Amino acid sequence: MKQKAEQLGVFGGTFNPVHHGHLILAREAMERLGLDRVILVPNFCSPLREGEVLAPAEDRLEMLRLALGDEPGMEVSDLEVRRGGSSYTVETLEDLKQAHPDASLTFLCGADSLTTLDRWVRIERILELARVCVLARPGTEAEAAHADLIRRAPGVGAKVERLAMTRMIDLSATEIRERVAAGRSIRWMVPEAVEAHIRSESLYLQSLNANP
Ligand code: ATP
Repeated sequence: MKQKAEQLGVFGGTFNPVHHGHLILAREAMERLGLDRVILVPNFCSPLREGEVLAPAEDRLEMLRLALGDEPGMEVSDLEVRRGGSSYTVETLEDLKQAHPDASLTFLCGADSLTTLDRWVRIERILELARVCVLARPGTEAEAAHADLIRRAPGVGAKVERLAMTRMIDLSATEIRERVAAGRSIRWMVPEAVEAHIRSESLYLQSLNANP
């Protein structure tokens, strides 16, 4: 009898830093979509996000490892960090497909991505390699953004799936960086070990500095 393909979720992002929004949503997406595993893949450098305060890739990776600990079914990949340069999702999915040829890939991202997905490098190939699911996010009118995407790029928009989430989590890494720079508390917004890493490595103390 043919075995059911492993359902592999891939959650990409800057994770600058990882926060409880990422973690809670990854777990919910996993349960709702019946994923066996979710791999969180921090990018080295995002082609669409120049000019933000970016902690070194090794720190962002380490914070993800600290956040997940030995959480079952969730893991971190250093694929994009090892590759260096601009991180293109299509290359990551090609690599994961090669490493897990029998798996069925689902790429997860927040609903804000609906405004840029049609500009992602080789988006058509991304949609061949993976099911793409966008997760509802406060601040983005997902339905309207999806309709706009369908208007701009019908072939892309029609294939992207929108996943309504049980809860909206109003947290962003931008807010966390801004709070650290302003000397305000980030307690309970990120896992304790992530907060400890931010403090011990003096990350995000300046609100605007050059990328390292
Ligand atoms: P920033 O504030 O720096 O843009 P972020 O909080 O959006 O950071 P990313 O690393 O860009 O974090 O997030 C990785 C992925 O998770 C992205 O696809 C993003 O849209 C999604 N995401 C992050 N936070 C949320 C949230 N609170 N709700 C839904 N999706 C989210």
